[in-house]
Amino acid sequence: MAVREIDERTLDFILGASRSAHPNEFVGILRSERNKITEILILPGTHTSERSAFMNLYMLPLSSHACGSVHSHPSPHPIPSQTDLTFFDKFGEVHIVVASPYDADSWKAFDRRGKEVELKVVKSEEDSTSEDELRKKFWD
Ligand SMILES: [Zn+2]
Repeated sequence: MAVREIDERTLDFILGASRSAHPNEFVGILRSERNKITEILILPGTHTSERSAFMNLYMLPLSSHACGSVHSHPSPHPIPSQTDLTFFDKFGEVHIVVASPYDADSWKAFDRRGKEVELKVVKSEEDSTSEDELRKKFWD
């Protein structure tokens, strides 16, 4: 099933993590349940700098429900670079690029060909993971 939605809290997490990483890039793997992105996975061996982010996809667990990637640009342009497009084409079906200032209007989603796609932001379900648990998952 095509990924068409993102949990509001997951998006908030992405924007917050991108803000904290500034001026470096934040990178992560998107995980989905059915057609909704619900979680971010940070891979061991991920290096970020002001110029680039590198993800060690060998570390990706096989059963990770990974559906794509997310990374931030310290610039105000959420437009994939040539390197981004090459990466998108290798892996996943949806890729989010967040740009400075990392607010609700400064991100875009793309398919593996680099074509912009619409992701609907949906309110978290009541019984979903608490913010503390999300934070714990991020740091574990
Ligand atoms: Zn990029």
